[in-house]
Amino acid sequence: MKRIALLGSTGSIGTSTLEVVRQHPEDYQVVSMAAGANIDLLVAQVNEFQPELVSVATEAAAKELKVRLDGNQWRGEIVYGEEGLLAAASHPSANFVMTAIVGSVGVAPTLAAIEAGKTIGLANKETLVSAGHIVMEAAKKNNVAIIPVDSEHSAIFQCMQGERREDVSKIILTASGGSFRHLTREQLANVTVQDALAHPNWSMGAKITIDSATMMNKGLEVLEAHWLFQMPYEQIECILHHESIIHSMVEYKDRAVMAQLGTPDMKVPIQYALSYPARLPLATEPLDLVKFGTLNFRKMDFERYPMLQLAYECGRAGGTLPTVMNAANEIAVSRFLRGEISFIEIENVVHSVCDKHHIRTNPTLAEIIEADAWARREAQ
Ligand code: NDP
Repeated sequence: MKRIALLGSTGSIGTSTLEVVRQHPEDYQVVSMAAGANIDLLVAQVNEFQPELVSVATEAAAKELKVRLDGNQWRGEIVYGEEGLLAAASHPSANFVMTAIVGSVGVAPTLAAIEAGKTIGLANKETLVSAGHIVMEAAKKNNVAIIPVDSEHSAIFQCMQGERREDVSKIILTASGGSFRHLTREQLANVTVQDALAHPNWSMGAKITIDSATMMNKGLEVLEAHWLFQMPYEQIECILHHESIIHSMVEYKDRAVMAQLGTPDMKVPIQYALSYPARLPLATEPLDLVKFGTLNFRKMDFERYPMLQLAYECGRAGGTLPTVMNAANEIAVSRFLRGEISFIEIENVVHSVCDKHHIRTNPTLAEIIEADAWARREAQ
């Protein structure tokens, strides 16, 4: 039985995880949950899944949740803030932590879960981008498995099963191109938030949908792949693949290429992270390749998508620069979503904060936290 701590239960990955749990009540149970401020949904989730502990972002949200749950059968604990998040992540009843909150706020609870010896299902890519060397070292020290949930990394992980790591010649990440893939850079000048949120293939949270449109999402994934699979940047390639049917590929020394395919549905990699190494049935649409007829591929265009170029540069430079890039991007995206800056200004903000930063090599966690806070202030 997997006893799950679900961080980000009210989000896109969180609700898909609960759908997987619903399909396999004998295999999976949710023992703790953490969410931000969506109390309506959280009340319904608590009533349905009866976790032992629930955390929300603020004291006010915790009070509201308590009032809303008063008088029903639930007898669990309500906590809040960063401490609450840590309590949810390291809950003694949990043996698996799904990190599905968004942003580098995921670093601390992921580390707490690793130190408590829980298996990690990692959706929160910002954690590895921001503090990859610290998280991977902690996982090694505590003998904890980090199983990817991101569809590309789950695909790579699946393509590596039964193979020797030293036989891999490169990883090939596929990218749909996001909501503005049909537009030139000049045409990006007047796009709206609503346009940006309409991803052609995947239904996801707001931040990752914007990251897909700027291609920063692929950049974050390059860094995530670097840490997860201990792969040098020269051996991580990105190509455009509009249909999002091939989720990613691995090329081996003998030029054999393994690909993982499927209908774009996050429940598939979520369930695989939970059931690994076994596979369980899943109610989702089967892949009908005949319906597609053709799958398309194009060379990545780094001029059209300069954020991907920047991510490679920051990854190669290392130290605190990836932390800064990630934090600046989080702020730039939230400013775009609030209507404070235009879509194209996201790039300007992230570039200028990265340019200003004095890199610290091999940073400690305290230096990462400091760099993250500095970048947020600058980007604001
Ligand atoms: P969403 O925005 O849909 O959900 C984010 C979740 O985090 C919500 O439950 C939100 O709570 C919660 N949250 C936000 N801030 C806090 C906080 N301070 N404390 C506790 N909870 C908080 O994001 P997604 O599900 O799309 O993405 C989650 C992560 O997974 C991201 O890192 C993303 O890059 C990654 N990912 C997502 C994919 C997808 O298909 N969506 C695919 C691959 C990776 P609330 O809403 O209640 O405020």
